[in-house]
Amino acid sequence: MKAVVVTGHKQGYKVQDVSDPKPEKGELVVKVDRAALCYRDTLQLKGFYPRMKYPVILGHEVVGTVEQVGEDVTQFKEGDKVISLLYAPDGECEYCRAGEEAYCHHRLGYSEELDGFFAEKAKLKVTSVIKVPSGASDEGAVLVPCVTGMVYRGLTRAKLKKGETILVTGASGGVGIHAIQVAKAMGAKVIGVTTSQEKADAVGKFADHVIVGKEFSSEAKKISDINVIVDTVGTPTLEEDLKSLWMGGRIVQIGNVDPSAPFNLKLGYVILKDIEIIGHASATKKDAEGALKLTAEGKINPVIAGTLPLEEVDKGYELLKDKSKVGKVLLKP
Ligand SMILES: [Zn+2]
Ligand SMILES: [Zn+2]
Repeated sequence: MKAVVVTGHKQGYKVQDVSDPKPEKGELVVKVDRAALCYRDTLQLKGFYPRMKYPVILGHEVVGTVEQVGEDVTQFKEGDKVISLLYAPDGECEYCRAGEEAYCHHRLGYSEELDGFFAEKAKLKVTSVIKVPSGASDEGAVLVPCVTGMVYRGLTRAKLKKGETILVTGASGGVGIHAIQVAKAMGAKVIGVTTSQEKADAVGKFADHVIVGKEFSSEAKKISDINVIVDTVGTPTLEEDLKSLWMGGRIVQIGNVDPSAPFNLKLGYVILKDIEIIGHASATKKDAEGALKLTAEGKINPVIAGTLPLEEVDKGYELLKDKSKVGKVLLKP
């Protein structure tokens, strides 16, 4: 089969033929229906993910159709439509048993220790697999593990209450445009912040208010008390986040555009305003199911910047970096 393979540390990737995966005990093989490109891939290619084995198939966001199941797999059968968490937990430890498998000591990451999903077929550990309900499209389902389910868990961790006001930075990005919709579906009022006037219209389709510009705090505070911020950008927006929040506010920190850039935190903002900064990375099965339900109900509408075949993955990354585009970039092998 064809696959996008990372050959070594900071070596880039190649589209090449590799052997088809075979499911072992506790595994299944899916035909990849859609895979999604992610900013994280670019960080992986820059060498920020020390757990990567090489060669490894790139890509950690997938929806597929089960083709083969390995020994002892009873929960899934051929023809099932499924997604996968970004990692495979062991399914046995105290965290896994408590439904907090994101904290499993023995978790293995797809596109890290395990092959990822930019391929015609992919092998999944059954501990990471979630069935897609009818009513959810491939485009909606593929966004769950790294985008909508991840945001769903972030807002759950931030104890978002109905009627609270949330601000989303990087609102036109692949995560931002969907974070707005997850927050709305969870009952929040949403302000989207974007840096470009051209993309304000796209953000305005989903958000209640749109702010254009890098210094958004004074305008945000005029609209409402800001209770929660989903920051999909990182160090460039964090200072304005802290200024924007009303007392008791929470920041769900998802983005980190430059992992090497430190942030000079003024503790006064955090202490005197009772602010919580919640670092946040992934979803558990429970969150993925929550986001899949909202997707199947039509409350989250996937915004897709483009869908390309595997061979055009280069073009996909150009789209991902193209600041005039809104939404996620998908591969359809
Ligand atoms: Zn991702
Ligand atoms: Zn575990």
